[in-house]
Amino acid sequence: MRSYIENVDFFKGNDPEALVAKYGSPLYVYNEDILRSCMRTVRGLITKYDYTCNFSIKANSNLTILKIALEEGLNCDAMSEGEIRLLQKAGFTSDRIFFVPNNVSDSELKYAIDNGILVSLDSIDQIESYGKIAPGTDIAVRINPGVGAGHHQKVVTAGKNTKFAITVDKIDEMIAMCEKYDLHIIEVNQHVGSLFMDPEPFLKAVETLFDVAKRFKDLKYIDLGGGIGAPYHKVSEDEKPFDFDSFKERLEKELDSFVESYGHAPLFKMEPGRFVVCESGILLGKVYAVKTSYDRKYAGTDLGQNILVRPTLYGSWHDVEILRNGKVVADGEREKITIVGNICESGDKIAEDRELPVIKKDDIIAVLDAGAYGYSMASNYNQRPRPAEVMITSDGEVRLIRKRDTFEDLFRGFDI
Ligand SMILES: *Cc1c(COP(=O)(O)O)cnc(C)c1O
Repeated sequence: MRSYIENVDFFKGNDPEALVAKYGSPLYVYNEDILRSCMRTVRGLITKYDYTCNFSIKANSNLTILKIALEEGLNCDAMSEGEIRLLQKAGFTSDRIFFVPNNVSDSELKYAIDNGILVSLDSIDQIESYGKIAPGTDIAVRINPGVGAGHHQKVVTAGKNTKFAITVDKIDEMIAMCEKYDLHIIEVNQHVGSLFMDPEPFLKAVETLFDVAKRFKDLKYIDLGGGIGAPYHKVSEDEKPFDFDSFKERLEKELDSFVESYGHAPLFKMEPGRFVVCESGILLGKVYAVKTSYDRKYAGTDLGQNILVRPTLYGSWHDVEILRNGKVVADGEREKITIVGNICESGDKIAEDRELPVIKKDDIIAVLDAGAYGYSMASNYNQRPRPAEVMITSDGEVRLIRKRDTFEDLFRGFDI
């Protein structure tokens, strides 16, 4: 079996064991070259028309990564006031931030409005709240095209079974509410779901969005959403990466036919999150115990669900590689094993019943494709500090980009 880590020289000569010894285990490690290359890919998705790519920062909101996004010419999507404030810290100006919240308070809306940030509204009630604060201004609206896509029901964000967006049958009501407050819809957007490797449902949804868009005569922007998948099975099943060339070609045809019937081209946007950061991140953790319990073998690690919750939350698959003495263990005897964490939950499993090289105590587990929805969803459950994050820079240096939590951090809010 080939090793991804060795193939791409992920650590650039740095010994992962030494990294863990220095920065603590577990540890999120990012590779700057891979990160920048993914950013360039999404940045170049539409070339024929005016286009901006908005990185959806909920996937990874490390400040250093945001600054790299700024350098690479990406704009960003924020889902909350906290994300807006973080983007401002990273140096994004208001015109490069897009606020796409759902179910937020007036004060959160007001923060975006006062900062001159375009807001996308996803219900008629929220349009009304917005209209009361800032009548006579420009807004975006999020439409549910009635088609969803995604790797798990929990991340399908359009279609008939989701809380998100305004459904097509409510558009007249939506327009009436906008008229009441003299709000001008300058953008329609959608987000059909997360992690599609097959572009078909996405392209279908784009068609539906374009049909809706034709009802608005002077749109400045049309935002096609995010959701582009990453190959989480590339080592175990030789899964191929998302086919950008064919996607770009097919998308361009859709854009052409829309522009022709609309009469002019608005600026198109996409808002990928996962794809931008997924492959550039690897999570390292240590094996502290190996045991057999009835007929199952377990490797007990510090990779709890508080560190990477995707397997527990969605049943997600992450390829793993085993490191010993600084090298990937690729050959030798293999066996079926379940890799678990140190959290008091029976669902605390990183990988279940995997055929892997025999794992030993003190090995390091490398969880691949952990850059998206990894650290950003981490918590202090069981009073465990969240790990540090480091970046292997383009010149092979190791840079600490977020400190590990201290116990003081955990106790900071208490009345003591
Ligand atoms: C989460 C989200 C995205 C990004 O989704 P990915 O699957 O990470 O690409 C884009 N747009 C909106 C509105 C989102 O909520």
